[in-house]
Amino acid sequence: MTKLLHMSDNYLREFDASVISSGEDYVVIDQTAFYPEGGGQSSDRGILSDGTRIVNVKEVRKIDGEIRHKLDGPSFAAGTELHGELDWEFRYECMRFHTAQHVLSRHLQLKYDVVTVGNNIKPVESRADYSPLDSFDDEMKRNVEAAVNLKLKENLDVEIRFMPRGEAIDYLNARGYQTRYLDMVPKSVKEFRVLTIGVYDAASCAGTHVKNTSEVGGIQIGKSKNVGAGKRRIYFRLTNPT
Ligand SMILES: [Zn+2]
Repeated sequence: MTKLLHMSDNYLREFDASVISSGEDYVVIDQTAFYPEGGGQSSDRGILSDGTRIVNVKEVRKIDGEIRHKLDGPSFAAGTELHGELDWEFRYECMRFHTAQHVLSRHLQLKYDVVTVGNNIKPVESRADYSPLDSFDDEMKRNVEAAVNLKLKENLDVEIRFMPRGEAIDYLNARGYQTRYLDMVPKSVKEFRVLTIGVYDAASCAGTHVKNTSEVGGIQIGKSKNVGAGKRRIYFRLTNPT
């Protein structure tokens, strides 16, 4: 089991770890700050070093129940002590995008009563799917963009707390936040990580986010398209904080 350090600290860029097991092109380590691909967010990348050799980490994925750091070079033997460092520029962009997506999703839920049914968080453009949303014309696009940007400018604190599964679902339901996506979380997951953005939004999410919406800046909504069954895919980019 790899301890996921990002769960409690999204700003951790460097860490020490030891190798539990390894394959030809990957290592499994006892703890990591790298975000393993999942929940629509791209995997982190960066480097792992044993003090003499630095190897690029191309991606991190959960495969066969273990968190594998895929290496661009020869692997490290079990027991090796490593130092890891994230590609922070990439990760920080993911954190800004992911936080923006929560605010966008909440706005669309409140304004159009739509549910977020998918997302793909990565620089330079992210996207999310909403249902039911048959049309999204230019006027709607401009209004949504303006409303989300105003909300982000409220400098809302983003907080993480851990709750037992049932308590988290009750908490979210009682406040009218979305919970349908939680049906997809395996029943073996007993504890949920609940993310709150001021009192505006709350969601159970294992992803990485900034600690205040002031770090996001703004969003720019790009194209959108119908992806079938009443689902609409909306693409967006970020503008830097001013
Ligand atoms: Zn999230």
